[in-house]
Amino acid sequence: MAGMSVIVVGAGIVGLSVAYAALQSGAAVTIIDRDPGGDKVSLGNAGGIAVTEVMPASVPGLWKKVPFWVLDPLGPLTLRVSHAPHLLPWLWSFAKVGTASEARRISGALAEINSRVYDDLVPLFNKVGLANDLFRKGALTVYESESGLRRDQPVWDAKRALGVETEELSASQVRNMEPALGPIVKHGVFTPQWSHVSDPKKVVDVLRTWLVANGAQILRGQVDLLVATADGAALTLNGGRTLKAAKTVIAAGAWSAQLARQLGDRVLLESERGYNTTIASPGVALEREVIFADRKFVATPLSVGLRVGGAAEFGGLDAAPNFDRSKSLVTLAKLYLPGMKVEGGVEWSGHRPATPDSLPIISRSGRSRHIIYAFGHGHLGLTQGPTTGKIVADLLFGRVPCLNLAPFSVTRFSNKKSAVVRRQNFGDGW
Ligand SMILES: Cc1cc2nc3c(=O)[nH]c(=O)nc-3n(C[C@H](O)[C@H](O)[C@H](O)COP(=O)(O)OP(=O)(O)OC[C@H]3O[C@@H](n4cnc5c(N)ncnc54)[C@H](O)[C@@H]3O)c2cc1C
Repeated sequence: MAGMSVIVVGAGIVGLSVAYAALQSGAAVTIIDRDPGGDKVSLGNAGGIAVTEVMPASVPGLWKKVPFWVLDPLGPLTLRVSHAPHLLPWLWSFAKVGTASEARRISGALAEINSRVYDDLVPLFNKVGLANDLFRKGALTVYESESGLRRDQPVWDAKRALGVETEELSASQVRNMEPALGPIVKHGVFTPQWSHVSDPKKVVDVLRTWLVANGAQILRGQVDLLVATADGAALTLNGGRTLKAAKTVIAAGAWSAQLARQLGDRVLLESERGYNTTIASPGVALEREVIFADRKFVATPLSVGLRVGGAAEFGGLDAAPNFDRSKSLVTLAKLYLPGMKVEGGVEWSGHRPATPDSLPIISRSGRSRHIIYAFGHGHLGLTQGPTTGKIVADLLFGRVPCLNLAPFSVTRFSNKKSAVVRRQNFGDGW
């Protein structure tokens, strides 16, 4: 199967990681992206290798908090009214997985994929020249009060049960680790397994350049039509050109559902837009990523400056960004980092590809064994990209995947899980 032609749609961190793993296995790889080096969520994210994030977004009791968040126009969660009708099936599914048993099932699957992350990410970083761009310094979650810490205790207990290492810290211990944090911080939890990168844009740029230097082709173009054929797939670009490949991988981030639907696969995928501001000379220094648990945002010390960001806005892929969100997060950050200078910040927003159950889709299409999906990584695409690449290469080359892929199957969104779909999806010895 060496030399097998593989087309990867999408040059974000997931598509590039898939291309890397396919190339390593001997495939002839073409990556198609309408804007290969351009702005995308993989370039501007917080840069966290967030392996300790194993809880789904939808958990029991969340619905009590949502109304308060939504009523605050610049709170951590926003639903744009004009998009609400489109969002209903996704929201319904999100609500349905908000039970204790579903949270256990989903967090188990997230813990399993995250437990592999460094096995796949570190060799990739070493190989492509990013060995000095990964900082294994852990992360610090900080709280303004004892009650805030206690409120999150069940979450920390659940994480610990899944192998997440934690260390509870007093206010003075927190400030010993991060002297820039002000007196508002009363408690902290250190998670040593977390790490961060120098700059997510550098990661994507270096990886893309390495792929081209090592034989991958990058094609600029938008895939408008995807058709499964008997021996592969045909992809028609805007402008009319049609390409054929033995295997096709859809890694088009938040846009992937449009292509999956053309094949007849039902996918629940929404844009969960996030915002941040990167301040090149913030006047304060952090050693590691800090998570502000009470107000739901983070700050990461990157090579390009201090990046302050978060927010979850459900407004669809075409809505204009509302950069008041970036500004409001900087205002909040000043509460915690009193010495922080805010001048010269660069605002940014990007579309997280969000599934209702917080699990990515890493799966053969239900309609064709030649087409593989790798999208829906939500808050964890940078973290899980290299492992997704490894799994997809296993599927491409008929190897037994390193994980049980049932929780990540596209068939979980089907109303009727027909025997045919299941046979096609799981019919290769795994
Ligand atoms: C504020 C914020 C902070 C985040 N922080 C972190 C973090 O700390 N750690 C972490 O792990 N994750 C984080 N994430 C999430 C992470 O950025 C995403 O999960 C990840 O980047 C998704 O990568 P992707 O390759 O799937 O999508 P993208 O980066 O969006 O790439 C998809 C590509 O597909 C192309 N494309 C789409 N449709 C077509 C088409 N039809 N034809 C051709 N090309 C097409 C697009 O042009 C794009 O280049 C964060 C996200 C946000 C918004």
